[in-house]
Amino acid sequence: MNEQAKITTGAALPGEQEFDRSLRPLAFADYVGQEKLKSNLEVFVAAARQREQALDHSLFYGPPGLGKTTLAGIIAHEMGVRMHLTSGPVLEKPADLAGLLTKLEENEVLFIDEIHRLNKVVEEYLYPAMEDYRLDILIDRGPAARSVQLNLPQFTLIAATTRAGLLTAPLRNRFGITGRLDYYNHDEIQTIVERNAGKLDVKLGDGAACHIAARSRGTPRVANRLLRRLRDFAEVEGAGTLTVEIALQSLERLEIDEHGLDDMDKRILESIIDKYRGGPVGLGTLAVSIGEDTGTIEELYEPFLIQQGFLERTPRGRVATAAARELFGSGGRSGDQLRLS
Ligand code: ADP
Repeated sequence: MNEQAKITTGAALPGEQEFDRSLRPLAFADYVGQEKLKSNLEVFVAAARQREQALDHSLFYGPPGLGKTTLAGIIAHEMGVRMHLTSGPVLEKPADLAGLLTKLEENEVLFIDEIHRLNKVVEEYLYPAMEDYRLDILIDRGPAARSVQLNLPQFTLIAATTRAGLLTAPLRNRFGITGRLDYYNHDEIQTIVERNAGKLDVKLGDGAACHIAARSRGTPRVANRLLRRLRDFAEVEGAGTLTVEIALQSLERLEIDEHGLDDMDKRILESIIDKYRGGPVGLGTLAVSIGEDTGTIEELYEPFLIQQGFLERTPRGRVATAAARELFGSGGRSGDQLRLS
């Protein structure tokens, strides 16, 4: 991933988890946006609490950095239980899963991030655990092999994925609650920027939050990251206040344009327009022509470009929209001119 993409895409960077955690809202009341999903969850959580039962297994999907882990944490907090965190690729063997499940206590939350990367064998062990709170463990091998059943406490599995389409139907069907997270609108992101500036002790000048929000790709994690970078500029080059002037100059230095588009977004659109006459072009071909892998394009870049109306996915391939052609096509403004001057 190039330097700029590290700033503008929602994927978590190494070492960022700690920072994310410090800014994570703990209660529904502090969770900005995703109103429909949030209000449904509030009802489901209240009902589960009244019945003194675990909440149904829940699946959250959507692009990275939109608040899936945060929601899981809020659910655990509001249920008054602990959350145990893991992720699909970490659970390599059934024993890894068994180790976690047997540590759970009544009504607790097990959060599995990137569930689409779960090993298929481990996934099959998850089925009876989710359905009947039962774990079938195979002891020994060969003729002496026998299966032992372990009863588990009632628990809630909360899973998150950026690629819901990759989940198998049997796994998907075992979630009682599913929620899709969407990009946040400008006002919601601005609220998040203002709140988090307060938490980070950053003084914002008038209008600064608005400019940061505009470049955050509708993604709270990107907003937090920009805020952290700009705080550095404000501390070193300003008198501690993040003014509009410092914000704009710093954003320009970070090469983030007014639409929040970065170098890779521009390369994707320019390549479709210039090399493939606006498309359609297959994802594989596009990936080779810009030197990025298909998964990264699909997961990190396309959802935002589609949401902004610059790109369409069609059965015959990717197509640049009229809006993209106007910005990047010959005769349109170039990516460079788009940057703040
Ligand atoms: P995901 O799990 O979808 O990749 P996270 O839940 O880790 O995303 O969110 C990244 C960061 O963005 C969190 O640490 C939190 O500070 C912030 N965040 C996400 N959603 C919200 C929200 N709705 N309100 C306020 N902050 C949020």
